[in-house]
Amino acid sequence: MTYQNTLEFAQQLDDNDSLSKYRQEFHFPQVNGKDVIYFTGNSLGLQPKRTQKFVDEVMQDWRELAVEGHFYADKPWWDYHERLAEGLGRVVGAKPEEISVMNTLTVNLHLLMVSFYRPTSKRFKILCEEKAFPSDQYMLQSQVRFHGLDPKDAIVEVKKREGEHFWRTEDILAKINEHGEELALILIGGVNYYNGQVLDIKTITQAGKSIGASVGWDLAHAVGNVELKLHDWNADFAAWCSYKYMNSGPGNASGIFVHEQHLGRKDIPRFEGWWGTKKETRFLMEPKFDPIETADAWQVSNPPILSLAPYLASLELFDEVGMDALITKRKQIVAYLEFVLHEIDKEVESTFEVITPEQRGCQLSVFLHGEGRALFDYLMKNGVITDWREPNVIRLAPAPFYCSYTDMYNFGQILKRGILQK
Ligand SMILES: *Cc1c(COP(=O)(O)O)cnc(C)c1O
Repeated sequence: MTYQNTLEFAQQLDDNDSLSKYRQEFHFPQVNGKDVIYFTGNSLGLQPKRTQKFVDEVMQDWRELAVEGHFYADKPWWDYHERLAEGLGRVVGAKPEEISVMNTLTVNLHLLMVSFYRPTSKRFKILCEEKAFPSDQYMLQSQVRFHGLDPKDAIVEVKKREGEHFWRTEDILAKINEHGEELALILIGGVNYYNGQVLDIKTITQAGKSIGASVGWDLAHAVGNVELKLHDWNADFAAWCSYKYMNSGPGNASGIFVHEQHLGRKDIPRFEGWWGTKKETRFLMEPKFDPIETADAWQVSNPPILSLAPYLASLELFDEVGMDALITKRKQIVAYLEFVLHEIDKEVESTFEVITPEQRGCQLSVFLHGEGRALFDYLMKNGVITDWREPNVIRLAPAPFYCSYTDMYNFGQILKRGILQK
């Protein structure tokens, strides 16, 4: 399609967009009396309007039933989390029994590493990407130290090539083969938070497993954004948060995936609690732990129902729309945003440099050479919510659920004014 940087053209794209009506399903912050142009769905997704109803329902059950709500609420609390498994399975390409929802992301990665990072004197290394999300770096370092090892010896980082802004799959595979039998675990962000790159999860997983390592994925920026087939790709485990593209609210619960091949295994250690033991015998309060034969065996505590309610509301929306439709629109709206950026670039004779490679999801990371913090402030004041990283990288994620093509056009105009007014 030949794009045009005009309001009419953008409106036409919106008219032809089967998802455009879903914008009405979300609350938008207001600036100058208008809905903002929201580019930070990769950081905190907008609140779906229907979320309130799901939360109110729990509040009402608690108010009216108190402890009886565990069993007699409309959606009983004792197995409330199970309601999320099927919908999430569709989002990440997994069987419902491979999914559980609990805790928060970094906590879950720690818990999964208890099971899947079991270093020996020969096989003890972890492979990750350089400059991984800080929480992941701290997690890996502390796990390694917990096992009495030195991060300098045990953590192998795959670097980008000099002058390049992305990782090459061939370089990742070469590192895997280089460390081969010493690699205990590969744990990488499926979509990089900084440059927006989508890694080749399938190929990397296959390579890692073929040399005998466990392979896990941090899918914080991938879930609800790109196509995932965790079961078919044979990943050992994965975890993600729910507040980015999944629109479930600040700091909300995390999902985990544990591949079917590991379910019911008795030889995998775990940090256990009462919500991971079989429901049938849980309330006998016996000392023997009898693990649930699904990913729920990794559950520790009884889950926070008030957090799960917004997650369930969000999954209802994902089920209505489906990942295929979201991905189709996402590709087009990101392409249109990129086009608008290039058009504005020409008009203002600036130099924007998109550092996100072609393997991308919803996010474009852009160097605005020669611009600084003042431009960011101008954008925010004019209703464009973006993420700015010093000195001049802007991260733009037009979430297909609620962003419009008209937003992209309007953003271009505001950006142009912001640059020209200097
Ligand atoms: C957002 C994000 C996190 C956040 O972790 P929490 O435990 O939810 O605070 C972790 N890792 C990556 C890669 C992220 O993008």
